[in-house]
Amino acid sequence: MSALQDQFHRPLRDLRISVTDRCNFRCRYCMPAEVFGPDYAFLPSDKILNFDEIERLVKIFVSLDVKKVRITGGEPLLRRDLPELIERIHRIDGVEDIALTTNGTLLKKYAHALSQAGLTRVSVSLDSLHEERFFEMNGHRGKVLTVLEGIEKAAEANLQVKINMVVQRGKNEQDIVTMAKFFKEKQHILRFIEYMDVGNSNGWRLDEVVSKKEIIDQIHQILPLQPVAPNYKGEVATRYQYEDNEGEIGVISSVTDSFCSTCSRARISAEGKLYTCLFATDGTDLRELIRSGEDDAAIKKCISNVWENRNDRYSDERNEQTMTKRKNAKIEMSHIGG
Ligand code: SAM
Ligand code: SF4
Ligand code: SF4
Repeated sequence: MSALQDQFHRPLRDLRISVTDRCNFRCRYCMPAEVFGPDYAFLPSDKILNFDEIERLVKIFVSLDVKKVRITGGEPLLRRDLPELIERIHRIDGVEDIALTTNGTLLKKYAHALSQAGLTRVSVSLDSLHEERFFEMNGHRGKVLTVLEGIEKAAEANLQVKINMVVQRGKNEQDIVTMAKFFKEKQHILRFIEYMDVGNSNGWRLDEVVSKKEIIDQIHQILPLQPVAPNYKGEVATRYQYEDNEGEIGVISSVTDSFCSTCSRARISAEGKLYTCLFATDGTDLRELIRSGEDDAAIKKCISNVWENRNDRYSDERNEQTMTKRKNAKIEMSHIGG
């Protein structure tokens, strides 16, 4: 039987699940404090998918050929008992890989339990090693040392660690080479992420994007690099190896070199909406289907229909249209996960 494909023949392979819309950071490019302030209406707990509901959905997605699951948020480690959810997903036949994206602040506390539960990989976000710049970028919430301790604990717990650094002009482009050197030394893969126009609240401007080319050029001058082939079709980061063969970096270039043609990711928000693109304006309410008593077959049919009708290629279109403004309100990154 041929696998599920969307309108551009892209299979459904990866599932990203946001387990909370809350975060203990207020990164300016994601949840600026003036928008996500003390009065911001985060989801009440009864509106968030519980672990039974998430487990059930993962099983249905696996029956549609999903092999990889990534847990994200908001800050996923704020979700109580997260290792229990990881363990439940780990036990599902057909899940080949479980990963977590986190800001790392609670990783020191949970790394061991997460690893015991079956987590294999963790991506830790860290935008600078410079205390003040990091503090500025995360909305005055977190310290570099806390994140570094989390990274250390994760490595000790045998989790494969990658570091994510969003590069924003005027904020942290001076940290590119320092970060590269530091994580080369630590033998962790560092991935640079071009600043994206996700959501509606970060005041994104094209001139604040530091391009893949600029990032690579900066590093190459100090630490020579050569391109490497992707590990698999649809890998989001373009890989480069250090010429001394001691480590590699990646660049996620969704603005200057988009990769929609191989995008096989579906996303579920904390309240159970299915989104077929990071830049989606609308999702399909799976929680409603579950809570109204629909059976697995009906939910599977709904997901299949959504995927078969999928024609999202936002980043490719953005490039083609040289930034024509969209009328509709996009979903926030903190809502849908990275
Ligand atoms: N809180 C966790 C964290 O920060 O790792 C998980 C959720 S966060 C939304 C997932 C990833 O999206 C992070 O690596 C973050 O840096 C990235 N991100 C958020 N807003 C972004 C933006 N405007 N452009 C590029 N990356 C962004
Ligand atoms: Fe929180 Fe992650 Fe968004 Fe920063 S990027 S505000 S840590 S969800
Ligand atoms: Fe996938 Fe949408 Fe990003 Fe394109 S813009 S790579 S379709 S999530």
